[in-house]
Amino acid sequence: MVATITHWIDGKPWSGVAARRGEVWNPATGEVTGHVDYASQAEVDAAVAAAARALPKWRDTSLAARSKVLFAFRELLNEHKDELAAIVTAEHGKVLDDAAGEVGRALENVEFACGVPALLKGGFSENASTRVDVYSMRQPLGVVGVISPFNFPAMVPLWFVPNAIACGNTVVLKPSEKDPSAANFIAGLWTRAGLPDGVLNVLHGDKPAVDGLLTHPDVRGISFVGSTPIARYVYETGTSHGKRVQALGGAKNHMVVLPDADLDLAADAAVSAGFGSAGERCMAVSVVVAVDPVGDELIDRIVSRMAALQVGDGSKPGSQMGPLVTAAHRDKVTSYLDAGVGEGAELVVDGRAHAIDGGSAGFWLGPTLFDHVRRDMSLYRDEIFGPVLSVVRADTYESAVELINGNRYGNGTAIFTNDGGAARRFQNEVEVGMVGVNVPIPVPVGYYSFGGWKDSLFGDTHAYGPDGLHFYTRSKVVTSRWLDPSHGGVNLGFPRND
Ligand code: NAD
Repeated sequence: MVATITHWIDGKPWSGVAARRGEVWNPATGEVTGHVDYASQAEVDAAVAAAARALPKWRDTSLAARSKVLFAFRELLNEHKDELAAIVTAEHGKVLDDAAGEVGRALENVEFACGVPALLKGGFSENASTRVDVYSMRQPLGVVGVISPFNFPAMVPLWFVPNAIACGNTVVLKPSEKDPSAANFIAGLWTRAGLPDGVLNVLHGDKPAVDGLLTHPDVRGISFVGSTPIARYVYETGTSHGKRVQALGGAKNHMVVLPDADLDLAADAAVSAGFGSAGERCMAVSVVVAVDPVGDELIDRIVSRMAALQVGDGSKPGSQMGPLVTAAHRDKVTSYLDAGVGEGAELVVDGRAHAIDGGSAGFWLGPTLFDHVRRDMSLYRDEIFGPVLSVVRADTYESAVELINGNRYGNGTAIFTNDGGAARRFQNEVEVGMVGVNVPIPVPVGYYSFGGWKDSLFGDTHAYGPDGLHFYTRSKVVTSRWLDPSHGGVNLGFPRND
């Protein structure tokens, strides 16, 4: 059966009159499983209007009442986590266990936001000037837009929505058009948790939907996650329309292996972080920097692990790596294999030859390994976002760090070593936002914040955690004096604190 996936506005499914529609596939079978509405400007206006109507009441709802809704949502999400994971697998293609991990990390962000009464405290200075008190508070921005990518259809929306709502904002979420059903399922859970109609709305679509949010006068903030060119565009367009914007972009994550590293641990990590979710993670390792003389031995260990990987339908037990999200994306990733060979890299393992346990029309590509990759090659320069791992040989620690710091991206990185001094030096010197020491995918826990440097993030604040609360609130400072008999008459000078 082919499902119809409509917008979700004012607490229910909502279909506009002039909607365009796009196709949604099951990547493991290649079948069309859904038609999703693509918003027109009128539909953007309807979603923003619903959020704007809900705003005055929601921003005045007590912290205690907001927190109760968050706790109720947390319980429902936990109860329905397997269903949500199955929806993610069916449209994204990642294996069920990986999808369950995604939902688990989403739960962490909800749990953080449940603590909103303790987190939104301001400061208070009694008697800052004689009988004058000064205090600060944080207030919501208003209507905010959240625009998310295809690769984490449950987790990335839930990096943002819980904190935005907890802070008293109302939200229009625009998920990826490639796997839109998770967002509607999540919206349904929020409604069941008691979130008032209009506080969270889901608008589907592509560029016109995004542009509609970026330019809408009633939208005050935008949280975006996606590729770097679109992140840059979203940041520039949104800020030029007066909005606060955080736009997280693409990545090219390097994993450095020093000569003293545990090579089995490093090989396990490279394979897990390179090929988990078919490399469609912004924190995937795509470059292994093998510092002399570990290269040959490390590659042998990586190759033997790759040969054992079970590539197949993510909904079947035993599959470790699923298909790519669309045929077009699979073809783009595959084009890098020929380009890499043409540019002189050594194709050690060709993913096209890997055995696949799945339908012949699925969007498959097995794990691929290149050696002797150089920084001038497209394999190295571009974010491929697929199961393609490149090994770059480096003669020293210094040249490894110089390589990373010269890369335009700065999302995540990792170092594998048993030398604490080297690891400490690396965390200090490397120009990357999230660093792992013997940890290949250092996604921060929900009570820290997530974000890269350089072309991996446009804006000042990272996602979720304390930065999330900061992004979704504006600070206000009140200077207050209650009248008493000592007021001193007219004074045209600048106020002094004495
Ligand atoms: P994408 O940039 O193609 O799409 C992201 C969002 O932007 C989607 O909602 C899409 O509908 C919208 N969009 C696409 N083209 C647009 C356009 N021309 N104008 C306006 N909006 C547009 O990204 P994707 O392919 O969905 O996701 C993969 C990318 O996301 C990778 O580059 C990955 O590194 C990145 N990503 C980054 C992070 C991070 O935290 N830094 C996390 C996850 C994914």
